[in-house]
Amino acid sequence: MNAATHSDVLIVGAGVAGLAAASALSGTGAGARVTVVERKPFVGGRAYSYLHPALQERVDCQHVLLGCCTNLRYLAANAGVDDRIRWYDQLNFLEPNGRLSRIQPGAMPAPLHASFDFLRVPMLSVPDKVVIARGLLEFMRGYPLTDGQSFSAWLKRTGQTQRAIKHFWEPVIVGALNDRFENCSLRYAGQVFHEGFLKSAEGGRLGIPAIPLSEFFGEVAKKAEAQGTRFLLGKNVDTPVQRLDGRWWIHLEDESLSADALILAVPFEQVQRLLPPEVDLGLDLSRFTHAPITTLHLWFDREITDLDHAVLLDTGVQWLFNKGRIRRSGAHYVELVISASHAELHESRDEITQSALRELAMFFPAAKDAKLLKNGILKEARATFSVLPGLDAYRPQQTTQCEGLFLAGDWTRTGWPSTMEGGVRSGYLAAEAVTGNTSKFLQPDLPGQGLMRFLAAT
Ligand SMILES: Cc1cc2nc3c(=O)[nH]c(=O)nc-3n(C[C@H](O)[C@H](O)[C@H](O)COP(=O)(O)OP(=O)(O)OC[C@H]3O[C@@H](n4cnc5c(N)ncnc54)[C@H](O)[C@@H]3O)c2cc1C
Repeated sequence: MNAATHSDVLIVGAGVAGLAAASALSGTGAGARVTVVERKPFVGGRAYSYLHPALQERVDCQHVLLGCCTNLRYLAANAGVDDRIRWYDQLNFLEPNGRLSRIQPGAMPAPLHASFDFLRVPMLSVPDKVVIARGLLEFMRGYPLTDGQSFSAWLKRTGQTQRAIKHFWEPVIVGALNDRFENCSLRYAGQVFHEGFLKSAEGGRLGIPAIPLSEFFGEVAKKAEAQGTRFLLGKNVDTPVQRLDGRWWIHLEDESLSADALILAVPFEQVQRLLPPEVDLGLDLSRFTHAPITTLHLWFDREITDLDHAVLLDTGVQWLFNKGRIRRSGAHYVELVISASHAELHESRDEITQSALRELAMFFPAAKDAKLLKNGILKEARATFSVLPGLDAYRPQQTTQCEGLFLAGDWTRTGWPSTMEGGVRSGYLAAEAVTGNTSKFLQPDLPGQGLMRFLAAT
């Protein structure tokens, strides 16, 4: 018989959702005894980093957040790691000829704070700017409460020009929602523009963790540990069992764990596998689909650009992160991100690299002469779930009809797309549910600034 350890709450999964739930529940408010079991040897879930054995470098797929990610910011601040987020006010859009369009807030009040730069950017013509401004007006007061419409239908209905789509809507939405327009509901696209572009300058600031992600979220785990949370890493959980007295049990190789409450903070495709056969939560998981992200990691012998980050227009690669500069490491390390990389999943690593290097040279002449010292590719086939039109009806709440059983994870009902912020919100909501909603962990949205104090309905 294995040794048995009793806790108040068991959490399966140490991604951002599990970490948020653990940090909330073990904090002074709830003061629960929490145990987190994670099958990987590190925390962070999909927001992870690791020492690449061939490259001998700590690599991760760059994750970014916006100022409006209030719950993620709170989690980071609570763990004292918020100062490792580098904040940028400007977005840089680069055309293949190297022409730069920069959008950043000026002195005007929200929602007009970025309008001065927007009116001047060379990447858009006057007719493009007119249709974009008309489109943004629709998100001024808020965004649709229901998610039945697709963003592609909206683009057509509002008469967006080809260049407005390619140089504005696409970089923002494919970057934020990681799928083709027909697979993105208007609700979530509208949310990105309302919260990130219109409501306040603060909401649209771009935040980039400047340390590898598992180190970043490792600090969150350390804080939870200091509050008494126990972490068991590298332990795969099989089917948990509920005994007649209502307690949940997890049997590991060398230990059995039990608790009054169990939070499954795992991705949707894992939930069905973990649930005991007699537990039917009425989930229709066939409604969920994944979307991939591919990242290229390139080390050069010299600097190819003095920008820290840029959106690359009219090419396969969408974002450049100058990680050597962002991390202040001194290395000439550049990461290129291809969102919604369905095509690249079937291409060889060499094909993807050669094509990306050709594209890079179009934007940055210095890349032509620079020597590539080493490189790697990470293909994440299950990077995010797609916010398909109509999916909200199938996203479950964190409370289930099974006593003592709770769900967390970005895919549960959070009102957010597949993001770290969505993950943290789900963890806080699950933690609130565990306490019978006697504790409040969810942080409020940023308030509207300037004219948006009166105009924003959200
Ligand atoms: C390449 C890439 C780029 C991304 N870019 C961004 C970005 O820029 N900004 C952003 O906000 N979001 C981004 N995301 C999305 C973000 O990473 C996720 O939305 C978020 O991390 C989800 O967190 P989670 O805790 O819900 O799930 P997960 O991170 O998937 O965590 C679930 C955890 O459960 C564990 N687990 C599963 N089954 C078991 C089991 N049986 N036993 C024990 N443990 C188990 C897993 O190992 C994992 O650690 C990106 C994702 C990827 C992959």
